[in-house]
Amino acid sequence: MIILDGKKTSNDLKEEIAAEVVKRKAEGKKTPHLAAILVGTDGASMTYVNSKVKACEKVGFNSTLIDLPEETTEEQLLHEIAELNNDKDIDGFIVQLPLPNHIDEQKVLMAIDPDKDVDGFHPVNVGKMTLDLPTFLPATPFGILELLKRYKVETSGKNVVVIGRSHIVGRPMSILMSQKREAGDATVTLTHSRTKNLSEITQKADIIVAALGKAEFLTGDMVKEGVTVIDVGITRVKDETKKRGYRLAGDVDFDSVAPKSEFITPVPGGVGPMTIAMLLKNTLLACEKVD
Ligand code: NAP
Repeated sequence: MIILDGKKTSNDLKEEIAAEVVKRKAEGKKTPHLAAILVGTDGASMTYVNSKVKACEKVGFNSTLIDLPEETTEEQLLHEIAELNNDKDIDGFIVQLPLPNHIDEQKVLMAIDPDKDVDGFHPVNVGKMTLDLPTFLPATPFGILELLKRYKVETSGKNVVVIGRSHIVGRPMSILMSQKREAGDATVTLTHSRTKNLSEITQKADIIVAALGKAEFLTGDMVKEGVTVIDVGITRVKDETKKRGYRLAGDVDFDSVAPKSEFITPVPGGVGPMTIAMLLKNTLLACEKVD
């Protein structure tokens, strides 16, 4: 069993990006600048945004955090987005999801300039991704592809089962791995909450991407020997033994699945850190576009 170490791989990637930034600066080119908008005080969202800002500092990017109160109106948020769209110093920006209920998420994502949409959520970029055209790939699927590539996990001709069809993880993952590309060329089955006999489907999988958000859902009896397992899930599970009162659990029951796996990602330290590294990569790409 080989651990797909997302922490180490993301650190390698960050070092590569940092070296690129040093080179850019020496050549008198612009320093990449990522902005993040956070609305409200959701604990997990604040943690994610802060780690993104910290990661920017680590690789030598400039970063701006726009921290807005919960009661921000949709109009005010759209105004902030318009400002970032027009700010020549900002190469890319993200709006941390989820947004408060009174704000229409789709309307907000549509307002972002596709050339600055480093999360890759704008319909123009989703369309380009689907058509195999160069674009910003959504960070989590992009990170999984990179992890598979760097560990030379064979995907061509393999049976891949993706659990979860969300717009940010499951669906793009299924599209990307079915494409003619590195870490692609797979035969992909996309499953969701209406899928019947899921266990029978996962038992036939060479590679499983679990992205459903249910702690320790995938168990050893649901997988075959030699499977590769990518665990995307991050759920806070109550744990009184921890100082913060919870632990982070993946969608995979690691203890029963790992012994049957050829490759497996841990939680934490698997897909999570890769997601942040790929956001930085997309920001660098956005900056290079305007050189
Ligand atoms: P989401 O939007 O809640 O989507 C969950 C998907 O799982 C839905 O398609 C749902 O089906 C499906 N599902 C739910 N229960 C199921 C079941 N019993 N069997 C089969 N499918 C089931 O979730 P998401 O945003 O994709 O996130 C998934 C998990 O990944 C969460 O834990 C999230 O925190 C984590 N995440 C991690 C990262 C990272 O960087 N590591 C990034 C993003 C998300 P329906 O469509 O039928 O409802």
